[in-house]
Amino acid sequence: MTQTEEFSALGLTDRTLEAIRSKGFETPSPIQRLTIPALLDTEKTNDIIAQAQTGTGKTAAFGLPILERLRPLKGATQALILVPTRELALQVTEELLSLNGRSKLSISAIYGGASMSEQLRRLSKGVDVVVGTPGRILDHLHRGTLDIRELQYLILDEADEMLNMGFYKDVRHIIEMMKARKALSMFSATISREVMDIGWLY
Ligand code: AMP
Repeated sequence: MTQTEEFSALGLTDRTLEAIRSKGFETPSPIQRLTIPALLDTEKTNDIIAQAQTGTGKTAAFGLPILERLRPLKGATQALILVPTRELALQVTEELLSLNGRSKLSISAIYGGASMSEQLRRLSKGVDVVVGTPGRILDHLHRGTLDIRELQYLILDEADEMLNMGFYKDVRHIIEMMKARKALSMFSATISREVMDIGWLY
């Protein structure tokens, strides 16, 4: 197979393959092979619990299907990726931007400790994909400044770390507010008690 044929066999099309080519990815990683087809299938509700360490290509595993499926709305947010720390929010945002290619989605990191007015300005212009930390996301949901009426993807990244860091209640609260979402997926280095709890509950 040529460089991107294996990615195309997973269901990704030219717009996304171009970005994969420019990143220099040659073959999908194991986690990508397993999760990309499921996340691309929007006919079904595919909720996923994936065990994957950092460095296994997990960001592209959930990022590529999101970039493939969504079209820019510049209004309501269509994908929300919850992460435990500001550093990870920035890292995931950077990786998604580098894969964005022709999708032209607006992608933004929204985390605690950063300027609220700047985040309000960005959100009011419309952000298609938000990568955020639970506390600040909940804050925006309560203020009504994060519009989730069009939400399709809710991803919990490094779920074990996030749930162990005391965000358990916040994360549950956020999931409860997003009943209309199409898919809830968790990516986690370990399948901890808290990760299983969320799995059973939702
Ligand atoms: P992550 O596990 O998401 O933190 O990714 C670790 C690194 O692997 C990042 O620099 C990615 O750009 C890179 N990467 C992700 N998928 C692939 C792939 N299929 N082939 C080569 N590198 C990849």
